[in-house]
Amino acid sequence: MAEAALAVHGGAGPAQRGADEKRVAALERALSAGWAALDSAGALEAVQAAVETLEDAPEFNAGRGSVLTADGRVEMDAAIASGTDGRAGAVACVSRVRHPVALARVVMEATPHVLLAGPAAERFAEERDLELMTPSWFVTPRQRERHDRRVADAIAAARQAGGGTVGAVARDRTGALAAATSTGGAPGQLPGRIGDSPLIGAGTYADTRCAVSATGDGEAVIRAVAAHEVAALVRHTGIEVAEACERVLHERVEPLGHGAGMIALGPEGAPAMPFTTEAMHRAWRVGERTGVASATAPERAGPA
Ligand code: ASP
Repeated sequence: MAEAALAVHGGAGPAQRGADEKRVAALERALSAGWAALDSAGALEAVQAAVETLEDAPEFNAGRGSVLTADGRVEMDAAIASGTDGRAGAVACVSRVRHPVALARVVMEATPHVLLAGPAAERFAEERDLELMTPSWFVTPRQRERHDRRVADAIAAARQAGGGTVGAVARDRTGALAAATSTGGAPGQLPGRIGDSPLIGAGTYADTRCAVSATGDGEAVIRAVAAHEVAALVRHTGIEVAEACERVLHERVEPLGHGAGMIALGPEGAPAMPFTTEAMHRAWRVGERTGVASATAPERAGPA
């Protein structure tokens, strides 16, 4: 019999001021919703319930409250992964689904696919088809450059204020591990951009030895294939999940971009919750012990 454990995150980024009490309260709500599901239905239900709770909390960048794209719309990504059997489901660029993580679960359960993307991704692909008659064919290089520069500046500025993606990892009493992540993406992102969160092995991954949900600089997390890298280190070197997370964040992700964070669970013990940003909203429960920490709220641990 394994010791049940659950961890949730509300994104890694700069230490944000304001609304911290609301964020802590939402993390605690997610922890209790996830824990109830963990008790009654197992790890997969737990990560979904925890992430759905955070998707409904407007303080976070997932579901309601997601950041806006460069053209002022919401495009959300989410993924869920089941460690025992290697199943996974994900959605990208969805704009109207209240709980993207629930849709990711349906992709996993009811289709032969892993990742389905919304119409925005198709629009983006059409826009990029320069051989055909796209609007950009009529745009001079100078005008295109000016537009791209404006977008790049907006993205760089918005990244400084990033954070707020949500995720959960769970271990139930049978020892099954699961992970889920949900996000509105990077502020000011180009329409059609897909981050690390819905990419199995990048921002979300689970197998029989660890479950990982990442947050932060999505492009760096993708290039490092960070969540799978943690699992591969654990599998091939036998090191603890916590050490694998630290190594991947510092040795693989950091050299490729900006800061990131992750929560991870192995077959036993407490969750690892490292980050290289200023702050990461997070909460955890292992058996009867629980803890919560947010940007301005110091880590608080105690009995459940
Ligand atoms: N990793 C997310 C993305 O790039 C953003 C975040 O975690 O803040 O879409």
